[in-house]
Amino acid sequence: MADGPLAIGVDIGGTKVAAGVVDASGAVLRRTRRDTPHRSTSPRVVEDTIVSAVEELLEQDDGVVAVGIGAAGFVAADRATVVFAPHLSWRNEPLRQALGGRLELPIFIDNDANAAVWAEYRFGAGRGESQLVMVNLGTGIGGGIVLDGRVLRGRFGIAGEFGHMQVVPDGIRCECGNRGCWEQYASGNALVREARALMSAGSPVVSDLFDRVGGKPEDLTGPLVTEAARDGDPLARELLSEIGRWLGVGMADLAAALDPGTFVVGGGVSAAGELLLEPARQAFRRQLTGRGYRPEANIVAAELGNEAGMVGAADLARVGAADLAWADAGDRLVPRRTPADPPAG
Ligand SMILES: [Zn+2]
Repeated sequence: MADGPLAIGVDIGGTKVAAGVVDASGAVLRRTRRDTPHRSTSPRVVEDTIVSAVEELLEQDDGVVAVGIGAAGFVAADRATVVFAPHLSWRNEPLRQALGGRLELPIFIDNDANAAVWAEYRFGAGRGESQLVMVNLGTGIGGGIVLDGRVLRGRFGIAGEFGHMQVVPDGIRCECGNRGCWEQYASGNALVREARALMSAGSPVVSDLFDRVGGKPEDLTGPLVTEAARDGDPLARELLSEIGRWLGVGMADLAAALDPGTFVVGGGVSAAGELLLEPARQAFRRQLTGRGYRPEANIVAAELGNEAGMVGAADLARVGAADLAWADAGDRLVPRRTPADPPAG
């Protein structure tokens, strides 16, 4: 049995568009997928892809009240406009308006990391914790913040871009143009870069990793290092623990600024589990401001995996639609919306 009003979540990733019907308990009732259109194609092609996935899901489900879209990139705080999406041709794309003419449902757009932190807050590793920070370790670092039970989007919709906090003055060059960004030290790319550097230097300690890629450093991936670590390779474990230490250092900075009760660590590298998280906790403790005199945040692995973006986008849309209905009930009721979360359309 489906629980409560249904919403459709659409997660637009670099290679796949994943869409699903999600109920109010976070259960995914039905799914569909499309390939993400190449970034050289026009915005209209991406819209067609979204509309076709949503229409397919609507054929079978009555009672869908809203559509939520999660996309990598900068989404304006009005949740209607995609300012910049690295994988797509969207530049200042008025996505809600464009889709609004084609889908007769309220549409809410969010950054994919905001959708993911919301999903972990509502249904995953952050359940019951109203002050939550999520750090996603993929090729880079993405993040999302829930404070007082609300997504913190910032004035321009760009809050949570933790990956580009500078942790090392004059450190490793980042593709953003600055040096020493956190994601140059604690991400999947950092893990692979360090492992390849050891291989290319002909270090004798890399024999296990060397065998796994048939002697070709260019074939090494983050998941291969994680697999080697899980199989007990001491070098892979050391590399992951180094990533974990940098993770803890950055989280201590975030704790100084935001004081969350829990950090949820997601993304591909988090598959390493405790091999990553325990070194992170140790470094966090050493670095934490006011250590010894304050409670310490929990540091836990994300629970929802690849579906967090889809589930979170759907739930944010469901909640957004309920807020709209509440506001539309007129002056008998006080809208729950605040200036930080402007009205739709
Ligand atoms: Zn950077």
